Amino acid sequence: MSAIIGTSVQEAIHWLASGQPVALPTETVYGLAAPLDDVSCIKKIYALKQRPANNPLIVHVLGIEQLQQVAEVSPLAEKLVQHFWPGPLTLVLKRKEIVPDIVTAGQTTVAVRSPQNPLFREVIRTLGQPLVAPSANKFQHISPTSAQQVSQDMGDVLNYILNGGPCQFGLESTILSLLNNSPTLLRPGPISKEQLQDFLSMAIKDRDSAIHEDKPLLSPGLYKKHYSPKTPLYWIEKLESYQPTEAYRSIFEQNSAHVFLMPPNRTLQASEFVLSPQGDLQEAAAHLFSMLQHLDMLGFQSIWIEKAPNVGIGRAINDRLSRAAHFKV
Ligand code: AMP
Ligand code: MG
Repeated sequence: MSAIIGTSVQEAIHWLASGQPVALPTETVYGLAAPLDDVSCIKKIYALKQRPANNPLIVHVLGIEQLQQVAEVSPLAEKLVQHFWPGPLTLVLKRKEIVPDIVTAGQTTVAVRSPQNPLFREVIRTLGQPLVAPSANKFQHISPTSAQQVSQDMGDVLNYILNGGPCQFGLESTILSLLNNSPTLLRPGPISKEQLQDFLSMAIKDRDSAIHEDKPLLSPGLYKKHYSPKTPLYWIEKLESYQPTEAYRSIFEQNSAHVFLMPPNRTLQASEFVLSPQGDLQEAAAHLFSMLQHLDMLGFQSIWIEKAPNVGIGRAINDRLSRAAHFKV
């Protein structure tokens, strides 16, 4: 099989209606979608991605009405939904019966978000029901931020990839658990912890404490190696001032790619790359996965990339890099 890349919403709906998962664009990364009521199509998502069955899927809805069909909506959830949806914020809430067990990995909770991308929204609207969708990559590969990247990773097993151009944010959604009325950040993402705290005027806990308090809760952090290029990835503080020790000197200097977050104040060499030519973290985040995937194909023996400041979307960049890196030096 070789997937067709196209821009026809009708074609995407045709395949979904005949029980075949389809890759769809979202503002975060490309998703591999199936209708919520089609358990056999959802099973195919797990098989095609080689995703373990204990890793639950995010339900994608148009807005609060469909949210109420799948989850118990607390006043706190409603407040967040009014402000941040549609957008890259996933909420974990108590599920309703209608959600198949396969979607939640048998848990009593469900993760839900409302995507911004107009093509994705049109598919939900036409099918008249929510869609479940994890990222459209094979398990532990990098999440795709363009239709071409979906095709490279999964083109051999898919029928159709709906092309919506490059993803605006380029990182997976922020996941916030609202269980027990105690907001807990399960995955940092495009909507930052600071933004959420400012908006709610309350403290948001980090994921680790959540895992201790609520053991069965599955969180993306449980898979330490989630996104990894094949080329050894070294994660360092500041590239410009980095002085490798004797053990690392030859690896750092020979046939290696060096990735800056922002442009340094000098001309770049052929083996040097910049995530954000404009010098802003949002742009760096949007380019991160496509840069790693691009460099992975260029035949370097190692990739060296620097840390982002730990604020705003910088936290999400560092979260993904900490799991992608083979070495932190
Ligand atoms: P993705 O692989 O980007 O689609 O992200 C899906 C992630 O959402 C999973 O890896 C889970 O960790 C998280 N998730 C989905 N459902 C739940 C849930 N009910 N409780 C906690 N986390 C969830
Ligand atoms: Mg994923």
